[in-house]
Amino acid sequence: MSLPPLVEPADELTVDEVRRYSRHLIIPDVGMAGQKRLKNAKVLCVGAGGLGSPALMYLAAAGVGTLGIVEFDVVDESNLQRQIIHGQSDIGRSKGESARDSVKEINPYVDVILHEERLDNSNVLEIFSGYDLIVDGTDNFATRYLVNDAAVLLGKPYVWGSIYRFDGQASVFWAEHGPCYRCLYPEAPPPGMVPSCAEGGVLGVLCASIGSIQVTEAIKLLAGVGDPLVGRLMIYDALEMNYRQVKIRKDPDCAVCGESPTVTELIDYEAFCGVVSEEAQAAAAGSTITSAQLKQWQDDKEDIFLVDVREPGEYEIVNIPGAVLIPKNEFLMGDALEKLPQDRKIVLHCKSGVRSAEVLAVVKAAGFASAVHLGGGVLGWVNQIEPHKPVY
Ligand SMILES: [Zn+2]
Repeated sequence: MSLPPLVEPADELTVDEVRRYSRHLIIPDVGMAGQKRLKNAKVLCVGAGGLGSPALMYLAAAGVGTLGIVEFDVVDESNLQRQIIHGQSDIGRSKGESARDSVKEINPYVDVILHEERLDNSNVLEIFSGYDLIVDGTDNFATRYLVNDAAVLLGKPYVWGSIYRFDGQASVFWAEHGPCYRCLYPEAPPPGMVPSCAEGGVLGVLCASIGSIQVTEAIKLLAGVGDPLVGRLMIYDALEMNYRQVKIRKDPDCAVCGESPTVTELIDYEAFCGVVSEEAQAAAAGSTITSAQLKQWQDDKEDIFLVDVREPGEYEIVNIPGAVLIPKNEFLMGDALEKLPQDRKIVLHCKSGVRSAEVLAVVKAAGFASAVHLGGGVLGWVNQIEPHKPVY
């Protein structure tokens, strides 16, 4: 499938721009016309993190005239392993400003528009409507469905990517010409089932592998060259070093782009994706303790059984004194319950309190009615009780 260019060419390139983009200009498929289209293009990156970093840097270098950045976060030391648009001296700075400075350093001819706010129902349509194309670098399901539905409602194409450990995926979703994200994934996975990169980790360079596919597809769409990744899902396995692709079809029953859509305006995406499951919320209500309370119990030699439900690699990085490691999956499979003592108070914890709430629901359902979990997880513990320890 080939599609017409998304963008009309700018009137002209300056002498400086001709020098800068000469390696593009001598590619017959790009040429002067293609480069002028890039100059006239407005591309929005949702997120200046793992995928947004390489995406913004290469889009800037390629000469995309206007780059929008949606980002409300600040640069954290744990970002620098993969978010290469930021550096050591940017720690603590606004990610949006840090990304803008890097873009300007790579290419001063790019106009940068910062949207330093969390993308939500109140702003997404207005922000998206100012751009020709969206590059989605988000890391959570609620925002992904929001991006998808807003793009479908506005008729905009977007380039999607996702990363986890050694695996990545990418595609172009454009409801006018092919499937959308909901055609591929009609339902969000149950909360707690799919770990985020913060929970499961990601190989830093994987961001470049997938981010570069996203930029390649963006440039092809803007300039109208090649065969866009519409209706195809690219799947990358870094351990096997293998790229494969599967065809994805438009689902006639798709809730947002199908023949009789049920989603005709933006919905409640947090509820749709259930950030914490209803069972976990119910279990945690009235059974959540603070780090200070846990420390008090330990100091008072209370008879508690502290269980860390994270993965072994996380336990190795940092742990709470006295905690026994029993990963969440062992509870979901049912094997872990027999390891719990009947006569001691069960206290569960994870990294931030989401996984331990899920496990709490399982443990309570198995009859451990007095079990509790630690709100804020080991991150909160380190922050309040043992600030000399590392966080991740
Ligand atoms: Zn669809």
